Amino acid sequence: MRWTERQRAMLGAMGLRVWAPAGVEAGPAEATMDVDGPPNPATDPATGPATGPALAPAPAPARAPAHVPAAVAAAPASGQSLDASQLGWPELREAVAGCTACVLCERRTQTVFGVGHERAHWMIVGEAPGEQEDREGEPFVGKSGQLLDNMLRAIGLSREAGPPDKQAYIANAVKCRPPGNRNPTPQELSACEGFLVRQVELVQPKVILAMGAVAVQSLLGSTEPIGRLRGKVHRYRGVPLIVTYHPAYLLRSPHEKARAWDDLCLAVECVRAGPPL
Ligand code: URA
Repeated sequence: MRWTERQRAMLGAMGLRVWAPAGVEAGPAEATMDVDGPPNPATDPATGPATGPALAPAPAPARAPAHVPAAVAAAPASGQSLDASQLGWPELREAVAGCTACVLCERRTQTVFGVGHERAHWMIVGEAPGEQEDREGEPFVGKSGQLLDNMLRAIGLSREAGPPDKQAYIANAVKCRPPGNRNPTPQELSACEGFLVRQVELVQPKVILAMGAVAVQSLLGSTEPIGRLRGKVHRYRGVPLIVTYHPAYLLRSPHEKARAWDDLCLAVECVRAGPPL
């Protein structure tokens, strides 16, 4: 296959090597960062295909809850998910910040709400904050976030301020960091589900990119391996949804980046095609 300069730059940004016959320059592969480094359990939760081994929950060392706001500390019994279905952005943000619906609230530094254009055409859904996200309050700021940013850049998107067709909205299925970066439990996923549902309702994206098994479990209710779900257009409340590998998994399995690129191209097609007639 022949690649244009622009396509080569895109593939290079994702860390995809571009093969070229001898004597022909291969282009800017691995141009921007070392995306193929070893997994970093501190920042990259195990989020590959659902077939992969689940991370065992880390034992919880005794420690006082961090940064629990006064309003939360005074809140009634925990374990109750709030009905977020009528909330606007400010109320939703506040509800997430004060949520005590599951045990994850006990050890978070802060909740990680989401970033990007509030009416973005693209909504990216990851799984849960890692250590760095918990510290900074923004999704995907660790190593896998760097790869995600490069993937977005490859299709002309960014998390930085821009028009709704250029600035994506990025959120996680779960808004608090699971200790030790273990996978969220089904109870934790369901406690947070209403927040994600409302985020989708408010953004009204043209496409949702579900990254990794946890996002897929939350949005599609499926535990099928990613490899079986990717490559087709699913629907989430009427919105086209594309399943792809989580960036943390791609860092560990760079040979899958070509498939992730196909997934991005499929999502681009969905946005271009618009809603079905
Ligand atoms: N992995 C995720 O799924 N989300 C983040 O915010 C960070 C890492």
